[in-house]
Amino acid sequence: MSEIYDLAILGAGPAGISAAIYAARAKLHTIWLEKKFVPGGQINDTYEVDNYPGMPGITGMDLGEAMGAHAQKLGIASQRENVLSIEDAGSEKIIRTKKHEYRARTLILAFGAAHRHLGIPGEEELSGMGVSYCATCDGAFFKDRVTVVVGGGNVAAEDAIFLARVCKKVYVVHRRDEMRADKVLQERLFACGNVEMVWDSVPLEIQGQDQVTGLKIRNVKTDEEQVIHTDGVFIAVGIIPNTQLFKEIVKLDQSGYIVAGEEGITSTPGIFAAGDIRTKALRQVVTAVSDGANAVSSVQKYLLTQEK
Ligand code: NAP
Repeated sequence: MSEIYDLAILGAGPAGISAAIYAARAKLHTIWLEKKFVPGGQINDTYEVDNYPGMPGITGMDLGEAMGAHAQKLGIASQRENVLSIEDAGSEKIIRTKKHEYRARTLILAFGAAHRHLGIPGEEELSGMGVSYCATCDGAFFKDRVTVVVGGGNVAAEDAIFLARVCKKVYVVHRRDEMRADKVLQERLFACGNVEMVWDSVPLEIQGQDQVTGLKIRNVKTDEEQVIHTDGVFIAVGIIPNTQLFKEIVKLDQSGYIVAGEEGITSTPGIFAAGDIRTKALRQVVTAVSDGANAVSSVQKYLLTQEK
């Protein structure tokens, strides 16, 4: 019989890291799995995180690294393994990866979310050939070129500000006439001399053969269509939760998020959710890390009830 862990943490973004830190301090026998090489999840795609208390203006990479190092200092590190399936066998949860099968009494699901795609012609075909979902990863390839950012949220604003530093010109195409990004980001964006806002416009097609050459858009108010000639299209139209593996074992809402409150309690006993993957009003690094702490607290309470 393989050993049984008290807890399995799935994911090493801010929520998973925070859960690992709290689990280590609670001396829970924990297995922690993450498919990527480095901890930090989505913050690794963020150039600058300016709203995490105590770390003004830190780069996403540095914050992820610092969080991972903190966990490591407490004696816990994530194992690089891709989770293939989860089974709820009541008092035991079974996690299968390519090489292993792990058993744990509780689970914290902290797989976060992935980039939403536009689903327009040219997007998949030109992915990596001018179409990107990560300005901080790919922006440097567009030095002194023209790029377009699609979206109106925090990520679109941050991406456009980042690209404005390297590109000759940056267009921001947004489907409404106002952005939902934080006001402070909007002010910084609008102050960039080489950024042009294209309001009320939806993308129709990304053009190009082996490389992006243009983005066809339609103005939703006038129905007028035009092509923006560009070398790159950065898509920042939100996120979708990584809940594919969990849809049979916990209740999801209509958008695919795991239904769970602040304590991370899901519809299934012994399974908890933390971070961007759960239903919540505000998806930020600071709310993800508090989720990780809350989820471990819930795990401890649950384990006590099981010992009775
Ligand atoms: P978001 O806030 O959901 O914004 C997505 C944007 O894309 C919205 O402006 C939306 O338009 C637009 N959009 C959605 N679907 C579209 C489509 N099919 N075609 C055209 N436009 C479309 O997503 P995000 O900016 O990626 O941010 C994701 C989450 O991470 C948010 O909760 C955000 O607050 C969080 N975040 C946190 C930090 C931090 O903690 N420091 C930093 C960055 C992001 P509408 O406005 O019209 O809906």
